Amino acid sequence: MGSRNHPFSVENETLPYTLVAHDEHDERHQGAVVFPIYQNSLFTYAASDKPGHGFKYSRMGNPTVVELEKRLAALEHGESAQCFASGMAAISSAILSRVNAGDHVICVSQVYFGTREFMDYFLSRYQVEVTYVDGTSIDRIREAVRDNTKVLYLESPTSYYFQLQNLQACVSLAKEFGIDTIMDNTWASPCHQHVLDAGIDLVVHSLTKYVSGHSDVLGGAVIGKASWIERLSRIDHQLLGGIMTPHTASLMMRGLRTLPLRMERLGESTTKIARYLNGLPRIRRVNFPGLPEHPQHELAKQQMTGWGSLFSIELEADMAQAKQWVDQLKLFRIGLSFGGYESLALVVGATPESEDTRPVTLIRLNIGLEAPCDLIRDLSSFYAFFGESAQEQVQAQ
Ligand code: PLP
Repeated sequence: MGSRNHPFSVENETLPYTLVAHDEHDERHQGAVVFPIYQNSLFTYAASDKPGHGFKYSRMGNPTVVELEKRLAALEHGESAQCFASGMAAISSAILSRVNAGDHVICVSQVYFGTREFMDYFLSRYQVEVTYVDGTSIDRIREAVRDNTKVLYLESPTSYYFQLQNLQACVSLAKEFGIDTIMDNTWASPCHQHVLDAGIDLVVHSLTKYVSGHSDVLGGAVIGKASWIERLSRIDHQLLGGIMTPHTASLMMRGLRTLPLRMERLGESTTKIARYLNGLPRIRRVNFPGLPEHPQHELAKQQMTGWGSLFSIELEADMAQAKQWVDQLKLFRIGLSFGGYESLALVVGATPESEDTRPVTLIRLNIGLEAPCDLIRDLSSFYAFFGESAQEQVQAQ
């Protein structure tokens, strides 16, 4: 798997490895190999009617942040990008930039919970209605369309059950009804899924995850058509004020240098570990689109050229047992986020999808850059907790 096989690739495309590693010699900065941090709030004018090089005040644009925006736009195959203080600042501004009072939004029901809360608490206050739909079914999405539907909001795959939406079907439907499409592409990163090439209008990212890659900064980006980004920058970004700092932009550019390499390694390690867990007793399901057993694996291969590092398992155990197991893991820390160098585990809750009365608990795992064999050794403590002999002991009690 690799960019060569990308379903939406264009002829002679520069591959991500080269895009992130190669900078042209830049006379403006004495040929410095790292783009400087313009640690300025203010840029003064040469004269009253000569506003310098276009920069005036860092809430309206900063050269270091603009450089990151150019690199992100190139990687995502977009015309233009706008960076933000966090993924949520990017998501909320992208949505606000496309809706007015009286509009209707269709959103996939398993969307990232912050996005869902934004829709529920903010959009409802401004008379924008939201319908949540099962994103795996284009028929359900079609049924939700109304005369005033303005935005179809997607996240593929979703980040708890890792279900996909069929992007080409969603784009055709949206075009048929004149609906704007916005998609969260954080999981696959700009290396593994080029959703603008598939016809999505705006793509959003939490750069906090893979682009930063080191769990030390937060950031977000919206990427798409230049005219849409220009309007979003001028109004939603500047006036809501959720800006990215130049120092953060510099750390994000450092993260970008190794993004394709890390994504490749993370995708391989995660596949190995998901495969290992898939064979274990009492694991009812491994929700990872990279496994052939995933119900949408074929679609995943068509839409993505590689995999993210986050997936979930549905374990036949109650929450307390699941937490005991997770708490004693040595190499997995317990935490919320993903996309950093470190492996993480999180007991999310009882799954509502249980098919029988046995308790089933959802655990989300993020695979980091550790050696996969060490991670598998750590996870093999599973047998002591849930293996056949453990099961026999439970039954004997
Ligand atoms: N999108 C997804 C899929 C996420 O998981 C998150 C955060 O966990 C966000 C967006 C929000 O990003 P941030 O925390 O940078 O605001």
